[in-house]
Amino acid sequence: MNLPRFLGVAVFAPLRQGFDYSCPADLSAIPQVGCRVLVPFSRGRRVGVITVVKQHSEHPLNKIKPIIELIDSVPLITADQLRLAEWAARYYHYPLGEIVQALLPQTARGLAAFAHAVKQEWFITAAGRDVWVSGGARGARQIAVLKHAADEPITPATLLLFAFDARRVVRELVAKAWLELRFSEVSVEPSIWINHDNFLTLNPAQATAFLSISAAPDRYRTHLLHGVTGSGKTEVYLHLVRSILERGAQALVLIPEIGLTEQIVARFTARFGSQVAVAHSKLSNRARALVWQRCNQGQPTVLLGTRSAVWTPLPKLKLIVVDEEHDASYKQQEGLRYSARDVAVVRARLANIPIVLGSATPSFESMANCVRDKYSYIELPVRAGGAVPPSFQVLDIRGLPLTGGLSEPLRHAITSCVVRGEQALLFLNRRGYAPVVLCHRCGWIANCERCDARLVLHQAAGRLRCHHCGTDRSMHAPFPQHTCGDLSDYVALGVGTEQIEEVFTEIFPTYRILRIDSDTTARKGEMAAAFAKINAGEIDLLVGTQMVAKGHDFNRVTLVGIIDADGRLFANDFRAEERFAQLVLQVAGRAGRAALRGQVLIQTHFPDHPVFAFLSAGRYAEFVKYGLRERESAGLPPSRVLALLRAEATGRALPLEFLTAVVARLRPQLPRGVTLDGPIPAAMEKRVGKFRANVLISAREPKSLSVSLERALEIIPHLPGAAKVKWSLDVDAQDTF
Ligand code: ADP
Ligand code: ZN
Repeated sequence: MNLPRFLGVAVFAPLRQGFDYSCPADLSAIPQVGCRVLVPFSRGRRVGVITVVKQHSEHPLNKIKPIIELIDSVPLITADQLRLAEWAARYYHYPLGEIVQALLPQTARGLAAFAHAVKQEWFITAAGRDVWVSGGARGARQIAVLKHAADEPITPATLLLFAFDARRVVRELVAKAWLELRFSEVSVEPSIWINHDNFLTLNPAQATAFLSISAAPDRYRTHLLHGVTGSGKTEVYLHLVRSILERGAQALVLIPEIGLTEQIVARFTARFGSQVAVAHSKLSNRARALVWQRCNQGQPTVLLGTRSAVWTPLPKLKLIVVDEEHDASYKQQEGLRYSARDVAVVRARLANIPIVLGSATPSFESMANCVRDKYSYIELPVRAGGAVPPSFQVLDIRGLPLTGGLSEPLRHAITSCVVRGEQALLFLNRRGYAPVVLCHRCGWIANCERCDARLVLHQAAGRLRCHHCGTDRSMHAPFPQHTCGDLSDYVALGVGTEQIEEVFTEIFPTYRILRIDSDTTARKGEMAAAFAKINAGEIDLLVGTQMVAKGHDFNRVTLVGIIDADGRLFANDFRAEERFAQLVLQVAGRAGRAALRGQVLIQTHFPDHPVFAFLSAGRYAEFVKYGLRERESAGLPPSRVLALLRAEATGRALPLEFLTAVVARLRPQLPRGVTLDGPIPAAMEKRVGKFRANVLISAREPKSLSVSLERALEIIPHLPGAAKVKWSLDVDAQDTF
């Protein structure tokens, strides 16, 4: 056996440097890059992953210790993944060991040997087939599962594709001896199954997009696919994925948190069957490990997943799609604060494959990259299937009387829409009954004790809740600071979806009204049931938060009313206008997907704001140009790159003192053109009981920003305050509060 002398190891510890170990002669296997090892570490032992094998080490030989054990004989992490992790460690200035640890399934983050699992499959029995053929099965769920089993065995992965708890149904069917469980070694899928009948013929714009993306399948290129809602982007993704699976390769499709719905999964499985794998944050560890393993084996797969799926091992990856690329949920807001979209682009570059960023409202960053020719810009200008774009009307509500937030013209539009037998959707991004509650006798306002935020009234539940920290208390429990008694005599200010629903029930007593927000759809299956009702035409009026804005198609909605969006336009965030426009267009996209023409009404106190002129004329690209000029003159991204140094502590002064000390030492060491702002308290200074403050570091070039952050990281450990605060770096921060 030809053993290397030294191993570079990413140890699972929060440290930014790499470590070398030597290789004992009595190992049972040859250590390879990507295998786990157990190593001595400070006074204990830690697990890590081998990142390099080498014959020489730059470290002093007397400091190098031998590894204790080689845990894996075959690598658990591919070389590609490791390169991606190394990039992320450099770019986000984050410990490599912790990134690498997160690449592994939960069960493989310790010492346990990773079981290359046996595959479980449920097969239909002869009795089950008889029942199925004779139509003897009862219950929609049992029928759905049997139907699937009649075509192909049920696997743990396919269990996830049902909108209900399919595991329970499978158990019932096993009890009836209509299904049986068999174990087999996991093997490569024998053949590729594609349902070609379900593909639509691409229209000319889609065909052009498809051709330019697939023209150079083995070369890195980022394509920005800008197409209004309903323009047929998803259909283009499906055609691209088909061409990848036909080559026996793998594709990754990233979808925002809220957009990964049963609808989109169903659309993929109708074409690609069990070659579809799904990964999201609600999966159990076991289910996640199975998906991980199946992808890692290189089976032809299209992986649909949210943010963290970007790290999945896919040795035969030939295409990445990032749907709704502008969506803020692609940015992780804790730990490694990465942008899954940006990591996806780097992954495509390292793997030398094409990547598609799709959106009806692309981010300013991606549009700027098209202007600089870094990305190619592809447009799908019209709705596929012939639907006409909705008309867009800005309603000046200054001085108008409002009932439950509703103006007379909007109320009128709702009535005529429902009278025509169509559906109306009213959007308000605030759940609960009212965002502010005050005592009518003394004027005292109910605030959260742990956050700089008001408690939100949830009337039906009789609770006051903080939407930031989860504080949840009875309306009637006394507050120590409120001396005149309980809140039996309160006033509720402002409106939330719960109140709108109540008001609507009063003014439209004969309409069938449905509210959709995270309070009404908390339980599994409730969401799917609600959408089924809507699409079956059993609802006239739909009230919802951003849960209804994304990912769902409503075939009968012809009127979209945006009740209150002004607050967002002036939010304390340099992306406020961009996010506002994206949200409005996203909600507007729900209107008129069918043959009927849609109408969008937006209530505002600021009808003259320039954003409305762009939006009502359907000129998003020009809005971006205008916005980019503003960012340029304000020195904000994407004309500059920025990072936040964040600090928080239980005392108000500590974060500011710590950051002041960092700034004092860092400022003299900064490369030219790098600016420091702050420290300043965060916009919501107190959150979940912690006080927070930030320093903003910005530069023209990523390189000089990176150098500055490196210097900051050298300074911080020597500061006495560093141990008393929790600090973090947020490169490409999405918000500055
Ligand atoms: P997007 O992802 O841009 O919102 P979709 O791919 O969901 O658009 O398409 C919107 C609607 O248009 C869907 O109902 C889809 O079936 C239909 N559609 C898409 N492409 C075509 C096509 N080439 N011919 C006919 N209908 C199409
Ligand atoms: Zn709170």
